[in-house]
Parts: sequence; C-alpha cells; structure tokens
Amino acid sequence: MTAALVIGAGIAGPVAAMALQRVGVEATVLEAGPGPADDIGAFLTLQINGIDALRAIEADGAVTGLGFPTPSMRFRSGSGKVLGEISTGEPLADGTVGITMRRADLYRALCDEALRRGIRIERGRRLVDARPVPGGVLAEFADGSTATADLLIGADGIRSRVRQIIDPAAAPARYVPVLNIGGYAPPQDTGARPGEYEMVFGRRAFFGFLVAPEGAVWWFANPPRRDEPARGELAAMSTAEWRSWLLELFAPDRTPASEIIRSTPGELVGWTTYDLPSVRTWHRDRMIVIGDAAHATSPASGQGASMAVEDAVELARCLRDLPEPAAAFTAYDRLRRARVEKVVAAGARTSNSKAAGPVGRVLRDAFLPLVLSRAGRQAQSWLHEYHIDWDAPVGAGGNGMRAR
Ligand SMILES: Cc1cc2nc3c(=O)[nH]c(=O)nc-3n(C[C@H](O)[C@H](O)[C@H](O)COP(=O)(O)OP(=O)(O)OC[C@H]3O[C@@H](n4cnc5c(N)ncnc54)[C@H](O)[C@@H]3O)c2cc1C
Repeated sequence: MTAALVIGAGIAGPVAAMALQRVGVEATVLEAGPGPADDIGAFLTLQINGIDALRAIEADGAVTGLGFPTPSMRFRSGSGKVLGEISTGEPLADGTVGITMRRADLYRALCDEALRRGIRIERGRRLVDARPVPGGVLAEFADGSTATADLLIGADGIRSRVRQIIDPAAAPARYVPVLNIGGYAPPQDTGARPGEYEMVFGRRAFFGFLVAPEGAVWWFANPPRRDEPARGELAAMSTAEWRSWLLELFAPDRTPASEIIRSTPGELVGWTTYDLPSVRTWHRDRMIVIGDAAHATSPASGQGASMAVEDAVELARCLRDLPEPAAAFTAYDRLRRARVEKVVAAGARTSNSKAAGPVGRVLRDAFLPLVLSRAGRQAQSWLHEYHIDWDAPVGAGGNGMRAR
C-alpha cells in the first residue's frame, strides 16, 4: 500500500488524508501546533463548491450543524444605498447553500472526522526538511525525529516549509493592502435578515456583517493600509486602540458599523493578510504542495477554505488514476492551476477595491451595480458551480471535472 505524509492539519491536510484513504493511500497527518488555533473573531464561509467537494468523499456531514446557511450578500455604499445583491451561488440539488462558521470550528470538525475514519494525526511535529530517498521521501522534524513514506504532501499553509523545500527560490507571499479584524456582537437591530451578508463599501473602510440565527452579529472590517505593518505592530495594539480607530473610520458612514463595533465584548485582534498569485513549482520528486501553501488567496475571495478542500479531493483522484507520482502531480497541476490562480486574482482585485482612494471609490460605486447585475452573477458561476465527479477517471492531461 502507498503511504503518504501529509504536513499540516488545517483544512487541506485532513481532507487530503480522508480522500487518499478512499483511494488506498495510507496517510498520516503531521501538524506543528498543539491543537487548532482559536482565532479571535475569525469566521469564514465554506462556499457551496467547497461543500460539494467534501460531498465527493462523503465528508460533508462533518460540517453539518456548524455555523449557519448564508445564501446571499447585499452590497451598500457608506451612505446606506444598496448597490446590488448576489447569491453566494446556485444551491446544490438538495438546497444546500454556503455555510458561515467559525474558522476554528471547521478545523476541529475536519480533524475529528479524519480521526473517526482511523487516520493518524500527530501534533507537535514541525517539518523542517525533506529530501528524496530511493522510492520515497525522508522528512525531518524540529524535535529531531524523522519519517519516511512514498509521498509527501505539503498542506502547511501560506508560510509553507514544503514549498521552500520544493523550490528554494519560490516567490515570497505578497502583502494585501487591507488589514483584517472581526468580532461577535450581541443581538441588536441592524435591519439585516439572518444569514445574509451585508457588505458595506464605507467612505474610509470596508465593513461586512451578518446576523446569526440566534441574533448575534458576526462582523469584520478591512481598514486600508498601503504599507505592510512591521512585525509585531498590530499585535501591540490594544483593544481600546483598535476600537477607537475603527469608530473613527466608520464615523462618516450611515450604517450600523459603529454600533456593532461599540457593543462587541472582549478582545479585538487585527491581522495582516498575504496572497500567492502564482507559485511556479508545486511539485518536485515525490513532494507536492496544496491549499494555501500553493495558492493562498486574500480573504476577500471568500474561497481559501473551499479551494483547499477542492485541491485535496482532486489530488486523491489524480493519485488514484495515475499511480506514478510524477504523472499524477503533473495532471493535478493541469487540473487546478488556471482555476486557483483566477481565484487569487479575483481576491486581489476585490481587496484593492476595498482600499480604493476617492476617485476609485466613485468609479467602484458607479460600476458595482453593473457588475452585480445578472450578467455579473452568471460570470461568477465558474467559481461556485464547480463539481468534482469523483468517479470520472483522470487522464494524463488532467480532466474529469465539470461545472454543475
Ligand atoms: C485569520 C484568518 C481568517 C480567514 N478568513 C477566511 C475567510 O473568511 N474565508 C476563507 O475562505 N478563508 C479565510 N481564511 C483563509 C483560510 O483559512 C485558508 O485559505 C485555509 O485555512 C487554507 O487551508 P490550508 O489547509 O491550506 O492551510 P492552513 O489552514 O493555514 O493550515 C496549515 C496547517 O499547517 C500547519 N503547519 C505549518 N507549517 C508546518 C510545518 N512546518 N510542519 C507541520 N505543520 C505545519 C499549520 O500549523 C496549520 O495547521 C482566513 C485565514 C486566516 C488566518
């Protein structure tokens, strides 16, 4: 039986291990951290294409009951004027739509499901190096331990060590010029319908929120920041400093943002984001990177988690049908590259529009209704209506995928 070392127990890692198990590859997941991080204020939407990809390996049940359905998004300007509304994608045949959930809950649920399926997840194992050995790969860990297997899959996120090992000259991650911060506010009157995203292009910053079924308000803000903050700069900001900066940013807008921020209890912690527009080399010898390690996208795309799931499932199909690793990895690259790079580019465009100056803002507010019109919605179908036909064989050219 083929054995694989999967580095990282985020999203791509446990899903890859589950998908590989179904094609007869025994995968062990090796994770640097002691447990899933409990990110303050960080939630995400697993889009319908991500849920559909989990369904391909009968793992979508793991996310049922997490968070709440999120069928649509409404966009406004800072004046409160509605610029347009779009769905988060055509629902699956059984009516399933995208689900918004806490990021840490998704991590936990995927690892729990992998463990339930008998997959080994070892924590506290930070990969430091890897090299080819006859017929396989030897991995070295920070604690001095080693492991060997036929394959090594780097699902180790945007700061991927595996990416560097595969290509020491790989381009570094690119700074995205908006900061991120979010939180959970108590129930209040926002005028929003439960489960529907409200996205506000404010005069000074972007604000998004949605009301959970029990009434709590989940929100995030993207203060523009052209230059990359120095290491430790954001971590040094106190909750009071964040709150007063955010209140100043949203003061000119006629939206519920200020009240939501004011009423949010607990700590406020902001973070920077980066993307990877094009990682030229995803694989070498018997090693490959998937998920954020290969193509991190700005959160504005809303697709980071869903792309990680798609990658994991597609890689397993390639290894099932093309057991020679080099052929499988080449087919995987052909199958995935155009799609994921398009997602990263779209995310970067959205992030830049959130950081628009006065002229850019006027243009954006003028054109957004058009973009959100019917034609614009149809143009998004490539993103959400991607369906992986698990049983379809993958040829050496990398095929077997279709839009729903
Ligand atoms: C704060 C925050 C908010 C986000 N919000 C959204 C959102 O709203 N929507 C969305 O779609 N996406 C969002 N994302 C992005 C999304 O979480 C990622 O796209 C997704 O998690 C990618 O999955 P992954 O498995 O490739 O990488 P990750 O989830 O980053 O997992 C990588 C794992 O590898 C481990 N690791 C790293 N190095 C090593 C090593 N050397 N050895 C062993 N293990 C290692 C890490 O500890 C981690 O557990 C957000 C990300 C962050 C950080």
